[in-house]
This record gives sequence, C-alpha cells and structure tokens, in this order.
Amino acid sequence: MSTLATLQRIVQRVSKSPDLKTALSVIVDRVMEAMNSDACSVFLRSADVSGLTLRATNGLEQELVNQLHMSMDEGLVGLVAQRAEPVNLADASSHARYSLIENSGDERYQAFLGVPIVDHRRLYGVLVVQSIEQREYSEDDTAFLVTLGAQLAAAISAAELTGEIASDSAEQHDDVRINGLPGAPGVAIGQALLLYAKADLAEVPDRKHQGVSEEKQKLSEAIQHVKQDMQTLKVKMGDSVSDETAVLFDAYSMMLDSEALISKIHACIDDGDWVQGALRKSIDEYSQVFAEMDDDYLSERVVDIRDMGRRILEYLSKDASESEHEYQPNTVLIGHDISASQLAEVPRDKLVGLICTTGTQSSHVAILARALGVPTVMGASSLPLNQLDKVEVVVDGYAGHICIKPSNDVRQSYRLLIQEEYELSEQLRQVALQPAVTKDGVRLPVFINSGLMSDLSQDQRNYCDGLGLYRTELPFMVRDSFPTEDEQEEIYSRVMSSYPGLPVTLRTLDVGGDKALRYFPIQEENPFLGWRGVRITLDHPEIFLTQLRAMLRASEQHKNLHILLPMISTMSELDESLALISMARAELAENGLNIPVPKIGVMIEVPSAVYIADRIAEKVDFLSIGSNDLIQYLLAVDRNNSKVASLYSDLHPSFLMALQVIIEKAHSVDTPVSICGEMASDPVLVLLLLGLGLDSLSVSMAALPSVKWVLSEFSREQAEQMVEEAMALGNPAKIREMLSQHLIEAGLGALVRAGKH
Ligand code: PEP
Ligand code: MG
Repeated sequence: MSTLATLQRIVQRVSKSPDLKTALSVIVDRVMEAMNSDACSVFLRSADVSGLTLRATNGLEQELVNQLHMSMDEGLVGLVAQRAEPVNLADASSHARYSLIENSGDERYQAFLGVPIVDHRRLYGVLVVQSIEQREYSEDDTAFLVTLGAQLAAAISAAELTGEIASDSAEQHDDVRINGLPGAPGVAIGQALLLYAKADLAEVPDRKHQGVSEEKQKLSEAIQHVKQDMQTLKVKMGDSVSDETAVLFDAYSMMLDSEALISKIHACIDDGDWVQGALRKSIDEYSQVFAEMDDDYLSERVVDIRDMGRRILEYLSKDASESEHEYQPNTVLIGHDISASQLAEVPRDKLVGLICTTGTQSSHVAILARALGVPTVMGASSLPLNQLDKVEVVVDGYAGHICIKPSNDVRQSYRLLIQEEYELSEQLRQVALQPAVTKDGVRLPVFINSGLMSDLSQDQRNYCDGLGLYRTELPFMVRDSFPTEDEQEEIYSRVMSSYPGLPVTLRTLDVGGDKALRYFPIQEENPFLGWRGVRITLDHPEIFLTQLRAMLRASEQHKNLHILLPMISTMSELDESLALISMARAELAENGLNIPVPKIGVMIEVPSAVYIADRIAEKVDFLSIGSNDLIQYLLAVDRNNSKVASLYSDLHPSFLMALQVIIEKAHSVDTPVSICGEMASDPVLVLLLLGLGLDSLSVSMAALPSVKWVLSEFSREQAEQMVEEAMALGNPAKIREMLSQHLIEAGLGALVRAGKH
C-alpha cells in the first residue's frame, strides 16, 4: 500500500475515533506497524504544562501510561518538545541528551525518531517511534510522522475544546476559544442549540438519552421500516433487474440483521448515547472495517453501509419528538450552514446568539442577525459541531471569537461587557430619538433595513425616518409556498401602517444566490452569478405582477410606498420592470382602484450598473447602493466564503471610487442616492459615507443609535476631509484606523469595539 494510502487510513481511523484515548491507541498501533518499528508512544503536555506525560504506548510498559511524567529538559523526548522539531537518531544512547526511562523497556531500543505534535504554533506533545536494531529512519519516515503529528494535534485540540482533556492550565481556560469572523456585534452567553441536517449521519450531534430500552425500541422499529422498504423496492423492481442486482437487496437485508452492527449500536446506547448518535458512531466504525478490507468487492460495500445508516436515520428522525424546537430562554443557535429562514423561526425572546461554521458577515443570515441585534460569529470552521449541542458557549460578535464551556472568570468578564453594552445602548436611546443633524446643520435622513414582522413590534418609527429597505423575500422564505396576493397585501399593509407618513421602501423579491425558497428550488453552479433577483421575477411575470399588485393595493390607504428593484444590471431590465409596474397599476385602475404613483428606486449592486448610474437615475426617483453585493462583484470575492473573507473589504480603493462614481452620476441628473448595504451600519464608516455625499443612509435597527450619534458629532466638511485622507491613504486597514482615531478623539471610542478583546 502506498505511503499516502497508509496515512489516509490512519488519519481516517483517528478522525472517526469516539474519544482521544481511542485515537491515541489507534495511532500507536498503526504507526508502529506502518513504520516497521518496535515501539510507538505518544507524550502529551501535562495538565500543569511544565512537562510531558506518557498518554499511549505500544512497546513501553503499559502501567506507565498516565503515570510517567517528564520535564521538558529531560531526555530526547524533552529535546523534541523544546526544539519543536524532529530528532532522528540511529543510536539514541550515544546522544548527550539521552536518559533512560527506568523500568519501561526503553533499554531494548536503539533507534529513535521523535516529532513534535504542533497545531497553530502550539505544542501539544511528542510522537515517538523506536526500533531495537540500529537504523536511521529515512526522510520519508520523518515526513510521514510529522504529517501524523499535525493530524493528531488537530484531534487533540478538538478534544481540549470540548473539555475531554484539560487545556494547558486552568488559568488559561479563556484561551480555549475558537476564532471565526465577526458576524453581528455584541456579546452573548447561552446554551448551544445545534441545527443539523437530520438526514445527514455525519452531522448527528452527541447527546445523552433518557432511557436505554426506549432507544433500543426506536432502533428496532426503524430497522423494521427499512427492511420493509427494501422488500417493497425489490418487488417493485421485479423482473426489470438482473439476479445479481436482486441479490443486493438481500445483502442489504442481511446487513440490517447483522448481529455485529446491532450489538455495536446497543453498546453505545448502553454507554448513554442517544440512538441517532449510537447509529452514527457504529456506522462509522463498521464502514471503516469494510473500507480496510483488501477485497475490492467488500471494501466497496462502504457506500451501501452508509446508505443503510442514512435510511435508518431517516426513520429515527421522523420519530424524533419535536423537543428540539423547545427553545431555551438563552439559545445560541449553532450550525454548519444556517439559513436566514431558520434563524427567523427562533422566537426572538429566546435567541441570544448565533454561530455558523461557514459564511461571513455579508451572508444573509448574518445581516438578519444584525437586524435583530443578535451577536454572531460566522465562518468558525474548526468548531467541533457534533460535540457542542446543549453546551454553554460565549459568542463574541465583535472579535469573532467563541468560547466553549467558559470558566467562571471568563463568564464573569463577558457578563461585565454585556452590562457595559446595555448601559451604552441606554445612553444612546436619547440620541436615537432625535433626527440626525450634523454639526454644520446637514439633516441626513436615517432609514432602517428590515424584513421581518417581528421587527415591526418595536417602536421603530420614533427613531428613524422611514424604512429604507424591506427585504420582501424573508416572508417568502418562511412559508411553504408562494404567498397569495391577498396574503402579501396584508403583510405589506402592516409594514406600511407601522410607518405612517414615512417612506416605506419595499424591495421586490430578491431570491437566488444564498436565499432559497424551499418550494422553488434553483440548482446552479454559480448561484451568485446566476438567476437572482429581478432576473427571476422578470422571467416569471406572474410572480412579479402578483407582488407588485399586492404592494400597490397596500399603498392605496397608506400612500407611502417606494418600490426598490434589486440586481438591475442592464437598462432593458429596468425598462421591463417599469413596464410591469405600470401594468400592475393599470390592472388595478381597471378594477376601480386609484393607487398613487409609487416612488421607484434601483439598487446599484452590480458593477455594470455603476457606470450607467446616470442613465438609470434619469428614469427613477432614487438609487440605493447595495454595497454587500457590489463589493462581492467588484472585488470578485464571494460574500459567503469565509476563506476569502479578508479580501472582502468595504474600504478597497476601487470600491470607494465606485461609490464616488455612482453618487456623482446620480447627482448629475438630480437623483438622490442612499445606501442600504451593511457598511452603512458600521459606525466607523459612517463619516466616510457622509463625506462622499450620500443623501441618506439605511441601517440596521441595532446600529441606528450609534450611526446617529456619529452623525451628530461631526460636520459634513470634516467628513469630506476624511474622504480625501482616505483616498490618499488607499489602504483599507489604514483608512479604518484613521477613521477610528477620529471617533476616539471626539469621545466616541466606545463605538470602536471590534477586536477590542
Ligand atoms: C446589498 O446587496 O447590499 C443589499 C442590501 O442586498 P442584500 O444584502 O439583500 O443582497
Ligand atoms: Mg444585494
């Protein structure tokens, strides 16, 4: 077998190990065999960090496991740890640092190869192989062991995070944190609730059950169902399949009866695992055994085993009680890929935080979280999701950190922060009630972004100048089918009536990209460059017209409708949209409804629209810059991809120049420009937007008080100077620093929080 294949097998076994102890014993056995050695041992840093402890061995005395401690300056193992690099010796005893480990069997071995176990620059321990014969391990051997050391480090760091092993020391407990990306500002402490794909075995979380016999009963019922399905399938296929294929169905049934598998699942249940978790662990182990078989036919059965596991899981999930939806009062929603609609389903009074292992602050779920004021961390890819269900976590949405099972000290310091936050928001309440007027008397309307009914329950109209962006897709996303015209009219009516006399900007349906409707699936290679926003609604005039009529009907009474068109990239899209709006109005007029002409605006969020902004602006009443998309399209950086999140910059000089172009072109034809992308909600960037000459801002409700505070403490002239400074600097980090410094000097340092802790 090739070295790579051996490595992959060991790594697979390690990653599937249910706990660290098993992982270590897999390592020592497999590595010893693969490297043709006579001993293999793992030493990990002791709980007090001062030294190393033998944690697993094959070749030294077993009694010494967890008993043998050595300091860092002791022996060759200590040397590997101190240098954090491999030590390869054909005759270990002749080395100056050699020191015999008494009564361990160590004296039998001559050759020694030790490598450090390091992850993210942190030393976790040392992995050693030894041979009785004098031999020089090859460079390939060293590379092999170094690679394994790195894999092992990742497994150890995961075990440490979940508390399975002690972290470096009790005092450093708050260092055991996972880094993600800031998603929505704020800090929260709560209990994790894992959202996982119920039909995906790999995502099943670890949980404890309430009763052994109930779990075993559920298992046996689910297996019966799958067996029946298999029989039905076999009968249905009848003569249309060959005998060999028919035999496969019987093989499936045999697997379902396999004593080995069932007793494995039962053993896990006896250990306290709930049946879904027991199934996941057992199927993993079982498929591993098959994968390692030399017989090709048998090793390929892994696919069938996993499929069988998935089928059983499907029945178990169907049976699962809905207790998962009994949200705790301090729920932190965690998951791989949580959608905006899943977030919207959690009652607001129960939700304190959100953590996603994918995505960035520009993902729609993060935008919604900000609108709701829910502290969020995105892109926390190293989070051991399976092990976090119902575990206490701290979400630091400023710095993008998560702390799992916080110590008392850490919990206390975050509580203090939460208190400070609360006090600041109380202070700002008064500022938020006043209109935003700059020091030189410029009155800048500040609208808010919204998209949820629950938003409307707050007394928002007292704080803002209207609704600058209502994302109509959100009510579409939380339903099982397209809402009817009447249903939509009711929704829009309620929105408009919440802001009497103030503009209410309803954006037409903007689905596609990362916003899916479960009843209108779209499969595309590049969804963000595909069928999105107005491209869909123009292709489906029946959907578009229904929505437009509902908006117009709702405006009959309230007379404050502004319609906003998303994703316009060509003039023809705009012309067609305008024609459909006129058509919808004409249809209603035929029915005797006298609807006031709505104000119409276009989102500038595609680079092609930037350079024709004047032509667009001539035909409509206002423009609104969608910076979230404009940045991703201009900089070619997927707004949802955490790997390239550092490239997604709202201060990239090209983007700032694009803003200048849009504003200049719109003003050249006397059309006002607003911005409703998330950058307007960042208090540090507000001065730049003021200086660039925007006519209004539309921000999240949570950010509104800070934004107004900033606006009221500076003049437009000062802001214009800052734009000049920013353009001269040309570097995003330096521009942010400069703007932050201005805020700090003016006494608004409390708003410059990101990365503070
Ligand atoms: C934008 O792109 O900036 C915007 C406001 O629209 P959305 O975030 O809904 O795509
Ligand atoms: Mg957009």
